[in-house]
Amino acid sequence: MEVCVVGTGYVGLVTGTCLAYLGRSVVCVDIDERKIQMLREGKSPIYEPGLDQLIITGIQRGNLRFSTDLASAVKESEVIFIAVGTPPLPTGKADLSYVKAVAQSVGRAMDCERRRIVVNKSTVPIGSGNWVEMLVKEGLQENPAYRERQAVAAAGQGGSATTTVSRKLNGIKPEDVFLVASNPEFLREGSAINDTFYPDRIVIGATDSYAAERLRALYEPIVEQTFVPPASAPRPSGFTAVPVVTTDLASAEMIKYAANAFLATKISFANEIANICERVGADIKEVVRGFGLDSRIGPKFLNAGVGWGGSCFGKDVSAIIDIANEYSYEPELLRSTVSVNKRQRHVPVLKLQEALKIIKGKTIGLLGLAFKPETDDIRDAPALEIARELLEMGARVKAYDPIANEVCAKQYPDLKIEYATDAISLAEDCDAIVIVTEWEEFQYLNLEEIGEVMNTKVLVDGRNVLDPAAVEAAGFKYRGIGR
Ligand code: NAD
Repeated sequence: MEVCVVGTGYVGLVTGTCLAYLGRSVVCVDIDERKIQMLREGKSPIYEPGLDQLIITGIQRGNLRFSTDLASAVKESEVIFIAVGTPPLPTGKADLSYVKAVAQSVGRAMDCERRRIVVNKSTVPIGSGNWVEMLVKEGLQENPAYRERQAVAAAGQGGSATTTVSRKLNGIKPEDVFLVASNPEFLREGSAINDTFYPDRIVIGATDSYAAERLRALYEPIVEQTFVPPASAPRPSGFTAVPVVTTDLASAEMIKYAANAFLATKISFANEIANICERVGADIKEVVRGFGLDSRIGPKFLNAGVGWGGSCFGKDVSAIIDIANEYSYEPELLRSTVSVNKRQRHVPVLKLQEALKIIKGKTIGLLGLAFKPETDDIRDAPALEIARELLEMGARVKAYDPIANEVCAKQYPDLKIEYATDAISLAEDCDAIVIVTEWEEFQYLNLEEIGEVMNTKVLVDGRNVLDPAAVEAAGFKYRGIGR
């Protein structure tokens, strides 16, 4: 099956590369020429464990290609994934301009010789499936191949030349040259390859059973787990098959928003309880251990800390609030999810104030910039907000992230952060250090060495990854979240 994936970001690139590994013929398209050139050379423009090797494998096997030529890629493909960004607008609405541009271009590019399936993989507001269908049709109106097909069909209507017309049309009526489907993505950055090969479920939204069948066929090796796993992503033991949820377009779109809104709410809930724990003398780690064991609740996504971030939660929760408002519904719980999170990002600064009293003129070291470990993604990362707040208060801010220093320096040249190359050089001259991202190496900090180079030994554990007793035994003032 020939597949075109438009957008080579975290979602599109991983999807395309994994489908190629499964034997599909894949062309990944992007408007960013620099990215496409890097990919052609076998280099991933994003940090994602295991991805580089799979890209090289696909290129060597000859079934993974990279292009900036959308029109040719569409002509070669049966399934066209739209996987471009849908970032938030200042109003909270999703910016759909990239989706719009791609959908219209796809319509303009189709040769109309076969039936194609245009699949929305970007996270889009409810109703976008129908909107994409309209946009592809708009593109088709400017497409000479489509207009010719319409003319042939019109000429054949009711006449004796039906067989000839049918042959010229390949048996496909003009209105059937494409179908739209929704296939929301649930991968997590940092474990995107595993999440793609071993997902909890695959969701397919379609109005037409043919589109749903073809997508199921595309994912067959994953659904049935018949593929030989790559060395970098071994199959989890006992993992046998993947449930496929086939549903209508609107429900598929809503599933994605509901999943992200629930996960964000779960974290905000844990943070709310953590803040109360701190006041009453309970330890959130113990509390979560106790209530997370309840099978109705589960322990995941209950880590208290500096709040959630990343490219998805904030924008998706804002988008669903906006959708609800459009329908005159006020989603109070979701608004609280956002406001609790906003407040939580301020908590490390309050802890620094409490421990150091004066922030102005102090040097603060941030351990971690990425919004979570194993990624270089700093979109809506709590570290950025914490750094800004400290800088505004007159502090000197240093930061060390194992992967994201360069990305941050490039994307935020005006943010006056001093970048360090390791935890020790970060700690030099610091009055306090703050663990912002729970990179594994931060669990094994050499506290003796770090303490020796600091001005004052204050450690704010914004992710509760350290043992408070061990940190205090090393002579530090320890401040966790909710403990
Ligand atoms: P991204 O910003 O990393 O990548 C988007 C890519 O699309 C960029 O490379 C950009 O150059 C390209 N692009 C933009 N306009 C284009 C055009 N006209 N033609 C070709 N390419 C174009 O985005 P992402 O993080 O991969 O997210 C994509 C979508 O998937 C979003 O809707 C997001 O909400 C959703 N999603 C993301 C994640 C995640 O973890 N990142 C997870 C699930 C769903």
